[in-house]
Amino acid sequence: MKTWKSLALPQLPGVMPSIHLHETSQQRVVALPDSDQASLYVCGITPYDATHMGHAATYVAFDLLNRAWLDADSTVTYVQNVTDIDDPLLERATRDGQDWRELAISQTALFQADMEALNVLAPEHYIGAVEAIEWIVPEVTKLIEAGLAYPVAGTGGEPDGDIYFSVEAASAAAKTGGLDAPWWLGQISGLSQEEMLPFFAERGGDPERPGKRHPLDALLWRAARDGEPSWDGDTLGDGRPGWHIECTVIAQRFLPKPFTVQGGGSDLIFPHHEMGAGHAYALGNTPMAQHYAHTGMVGLDGEKMSKSRGNLVFVSVLRAEGVDPAAIRLAILAHHYRSDWFWTQELLVSAQDRLARWRAAVAVAPEGTAMPLLAEMRAAISQDLDAPRALAAIDAWAAQANAGTPAASGICVRDAALVSDAIEALLGIEL
Ligand SMILES: [Zn+2]
Repeated sequence: MKTWKSLALPQLPGVMPSIHLHETSQQRVVALPDSDQASLYVCGITPYDATHMGHAATYVAFDLLNRAWLDADSTVTYVQNVTDIDDPLLERATRDGQDWRELAISQTALFQADMEALNVLAPEHYIGAVEAIEWIVPEVTKLIEAGLAYPVAGTGGEPDGDIYFSVEAASAAAKTGGLDAPWWLGQISGLSQEEMLPFFAERGGDPERPGKRHPLDALLWRAARDGEPSWDGDTLGDGRPGWHIECTVIAQRFLPKPFTVQGGGSDLIFPHHEMGAGHAYALGNTPMAQHYAHTGMVGLDGEKMSKSRGNLVFVSVLRAEGVDPAAIRLAILAHHYRSDWFWTQELLVSAQDRLARWRAAVAVAPEGTAMPLLAEMRAAISQDLDAPRALAAIDAWAAQANAGTPAASGICVRDAALVSDAIEALLGIEL
């Protein structure tokens, strides 16, 4: 699938320190491997309700990581999926009397236009679930043959042949797999099975489904139903893939096993990333990712932002109102990516003011101030992508420049260019 455009980043002088990132499974900040090869998988959208502020905050956060790696001269292979067939997409299409394919195509295009406007660097591979079906079918077949997946008989008018991942069989097989880091249910989330159950039910799982061996067994293949799209599954029968296996197969196809970082919103920790990690181990006897990182949730004016409340803030709506996308991005960057925060009008106004202050300051950049500022920005970003700290350093620099203090009376074109390049390369903000 085509991706949006990425512009070449300015090269900065000096060196990015070792990059550190909060690791969800260990609940602490760890050093990422210093390597000239980095690989990133960020779970993509299901294409409806694109692009709300929660989506935008997640992709901007991992864009900071991408940019930090690029500044450290790493080659980054970045993969993102788009779940262009899934229950929520079909439900939305049915509700709105729309063809599900048209909904997926139009919302994916809108998402990509928003990402481009927000200056999020495009992934190298942008893969749809539908195009991945032919790769998913043999992998699910392999899991059945290994005894790690099984079909469930249909009840109450449901067809036979939905295939589920056996969490108990996969955990037991991983223990005897011989690697240092076998998979177990709870490895990524740290949740107990009692804690997992409500999340599983809320987030697309079906703990009550009759015939499953364990309530937390996750759907790998959904047998064809009347009125639902389906594809040839060879020995699996016609149907369509489950969500977790989609990401595992795409990631393992395009990235090293394991790849460096898997990212997503904190609502993906369980079951999505937990199950994806289990699928990866079951298929390849290898962890899915070396590290798991998650972003906080974005609310609106003190309330949770959700489809059901109808209070989603859309990037495209703000853009249509004439809001500078750089100000939207700056409003996002004013919060640490792991914090939960609320979108407000005041936040946007303050981001617009900040952008104006920075733009004014660059025109009067004092001589000799750019390199120290760049070092402060890199130090902040390398420590768990601390964008608020980088913004504070730029604010202090801009205040000094705009005050035109006598000590810094020499306005310097070179410093202006470097500050502007650094803000663009590291933070994705064009002044
Ligand atoms: Zn995913």
